[in-house]
Amino acid sequence: MSVCIHNGWVLSMAPGSEAIADGFVVIESDRVERVGTGAPPPADTMIDAGGGIVLPGMVNTHTHLAMALFRSLADDRADRLRRVLFPLESRVVDADLVYHATLHALIELIEGGVTTFADMYYFEEESARATREAGLRGVVGETVVNFAAPDEPEPHGGLDRARRLVAAYRGDPLVTPAIAPHAPYTVDDAHLRACVAASEELDVPMMLHLAEMPFEVEAIQKAYGVSPVRRMHDIGVLNRRLTAVHCVFTDEADHRLLSEHDVGVAHNPIANAKGGKGFAPAKAMADADLRLGLATDGPMSGNRLDLFPAMRAAAYIHKGIAQDATVFPAKEIVHLATMGGARALHMEERIGSLEPGKQADVIVIATDSVAMQPLHDPWSAVVYAATAGDVNTTIVAGRVLMQDRRIPHLDRGAIMARSREIGARIRETLGEV
Ligand SMILES: [Zn+2]
Repeated sequence: MSVCIHNGWVLSMAPGSEAIADGFVVIESDRVERVGTGAPPPADTMIDAGGGIVLPGMVNTHTHLAMALFRSLADDRADRLRRVLFPLESRVVDADLVYHATLHALIELIEGGVTTFADMYYFEEESARATREAGLRGVVGETVVNFAAPDEPEPHGGLDRARRLVAAYRGDPLVTPAIAPHAPYTVDDAHLRACVAASEELDVPMMLHLAEMPFEVEAIQKAYGVSPVRRMHDIGVLNRRLTAVHCVFTDEADHRLLSEHDVGVAHNPIANAKGGKGFAPAKAMADADLRLGLATDGPMSGNRLDLFPAMRAAAYIHKGIAQDATVFPAKEIVHLATMGGARALHMEERIGSLEPGKQADVIVIATDSVAMQPLHDPWSAVVYAATAGDVNTTIVAGRVLMQDRRIPHLDRGAIMARSREIGARIRETLGEV
């Protein structure tokens, strides 16, 4: 089965590549076969990009998809995680909610041009099931915390659940099971080490919120006299399987440690700013050539799951901080959302760019809206003007999941109706927490 996407600007994100005008991308089965320009070769399915922008699918390097149905609850409150979220989750999160809310979120990802995500939540076997059904590519991390979790009454019981998840999904072409110790302040050192040992033994990725919270920095500084990143280094947590999420409170010495140990970093500019945490020093991270990708965080923190707002926020914030318009030019921002994300998840051999042999994860961004015309510079248009609504085609592993904004294999109406029902139940419960 072959697909040819033609008549578009192709931003392949291959090293050293420029935008290709009147380009085409040929897909054979689940892989990219060829990228070129001029007359498109014939294929079983021809997709006319209509002058739009053809990109590798975007990579959202950190989220909590099942929180989609908590979106807009208790926004703008202080210490929402401990005061609202943890109590709410202990009351309402069950397997059914996770499955359903994840499915809801996956529609948003498909519609927004995200083809790979990294998720951290509870009942991740349900997230994995929904991901298979939707056909996206996901790293699904079962959460480990030092208190009774919604899916596990025993503290740190998530580690055993993660082992079962790995056994169930090992070798799956789209779902990569992972271990997700929540943070240094919710998992003790012994269990952090146990998570590292398990990720090595099982050869699976690990993800960890790190250097995100002022109280986390303060506690580690007081107890050990070092930064959170240095502390994780000292107890053996930093390695090439880890994606460290946030890294707001980090300096150049921390960045050297992250670089030396090949750690990926998920940069969440919107969630960090909205949560009043500050701005991660992403420019310094990029200068240190860290494996840096973009993320939205969960929809309760970042509200949206597509990366268009995150791209814009990263550009605005870091130009503003540096008082320098040349910081993070549009092409670099598109790189962060694609190849950078693939590197942050240590998946750059398979995804992140449109190159022969790589997985065929491709999106088309339409350019016929008023805001996108006239199109002088496709990089600039993607970063500063496009929105999720402009994405009209999403392909994962050669399978067309959305074309002309239609997702034939998912019943969008029924899924949204069920979300409203569950949402009503959540609002009732929130009245009690
Ligand atoms: Zn998070």
